[in-house]
Amino acid sequence: MSAETADWAATRDASWYQRPNVRSDKQVHMAGRMAPRGEGVMSRCGRSILDDDSSWRPADVPAGLRCRANGCRQGWPAQDGGAL
Ligand SMILES: [Zn+2]
Repeated sequence: MSAETADWAATRDASWYQRPNVRSDKQVHMAGRMAPRGEGVMSRCGRSILDDDSSWRPADVPAGLRCRANGCRQGWPAQDGGAL
């Protein structure tokens, strides 16, 4: 357990982008640290600002929606059945 980051996950906040990509908005990222200028919480992969109004419990995120980028990938809990 780390006190530094809470264990939750979320889709990215598409409103932060000028040209949201509807398909990739369905990907769920592990929450990381606060963004440098306080825009929100960064994903652990560093690619996205997360929408913390749509947070998930990491264990509840289906394998197909999990971000597999380095950083997020290591954060996902194992799933029953080994679907990954
Ligand atoms: Zn990610």
